[in-house]
Amino acid sequence: MPPNSGRPAATAVSVIEEPAPAKLNLYLHVTGRRPDGYHLLDSLFAFADIGDRIRLRPGEGPSLSVDGPFASAAPAGPDNLALKALLALAEAVGRPPGVAMELTKALPVAAGIGGGSADAAAVLRGLCRLWDIDRRDPRIRTVAGSLGADVPACLLGAACFAAGIGDELTPAPSTAGLPVVLVNPGVALATPDVFRARTGGFSAAARFDDRFDNPSDPRGWAAALRARRNDLTPAALALAPEIGEVLAILEDPEGCLLARMSGSGATCFGLFEDHAAARAAAEAIAARRPGWWVRPARLL
Ligand code: ATP
Repeated sequence: MPPNSGRPAATAVSVIEEPAPAKLNLYLHVTGRRPDGYHLLDSLFAFADIGDRIRLRPGEGPSLSVDGPFASAAPAGPDNLALKALLALAEAVGRPPGVAMELTKALPVAAGIGGGSADAAAVLRGLCRLWDIDRRDPRIRTVAGSLGADVPACLLGAACFAAGIGDELTPAPSTAGLPVVLVNPGVALATPDVFRARTGGFSAAARFDDRFDNPSDPRGWAAALRARRNDLTPAALALAPEIGEVLAILEDPEGCLLARMSGSGATCFGLFEDHAAARAAAEAIAARRPGWWVRPARLL
């Protein structure tokens, strides 16, 4: 095998599959507002080992088909961020967008866990593999930022602090292995509605650089997060009172160290002592509320 042939030639690729992990905001402080109306944030993004999946087939396309439990809630046509990502990157790097995409939509839509942004980022990662583009190529970052404020963080796919409108990223202490349970009560919340419903002032930035003895120490993380909030929770609660019930039910089981809402809601997460406790809590919550979306997961 010749040198530099660590990956197969692009022409040999028949299908590329990329995970689109769920995004969580472990805390989210609204620190200000720009003159153009965008809010400034200080947030800690983390990613879970559950999410959507995207498959890319070079040749025909551009096209997108969507399957999975939440397929009917996601836009199927040109409004889908996966398709927008394909077209935007093809244009930026001067490639024909001849790719047929299949998206399995496993994450609830308009749920505060970044489904659309995660899908767009997964498409960008997949296209980098398919078209043999270095992921650090500045065009990738530019396209990601143009698709949405959360897409650059999803492209990174690892715990990071975000400033600005959510797109100025700095690495955060590793969250790998932290056991969580995600719960969504089946209420879609549009992010702009939640920001509009927000009242009150602004918070200070609150990033930290604690290095926990064990990077996956749930108690150390819970202590750090307890001193921080999601500033969008009161506004989301006013629009979707079910969130109050989700937080109360999550905090109840043995082993839950902390429960918070993610993003603009309505999905909330509980941070657990260990994965067995998270699994048991998820089973108990799903039994009590069969209509809710409930998933145990580990952070990446
Ligand atoms: P965030 O946490 O980044 O604010 P979210 O989880 O609240 O995002 P999404 O699931 O990304 O919200 O959906 C927001 C909107 O994006 C939806 O109303 C939907 O119409 C649109 N959208 C476009 N593409 C997708 C996609 N691939 N998956 C889900 N929603 C999409």
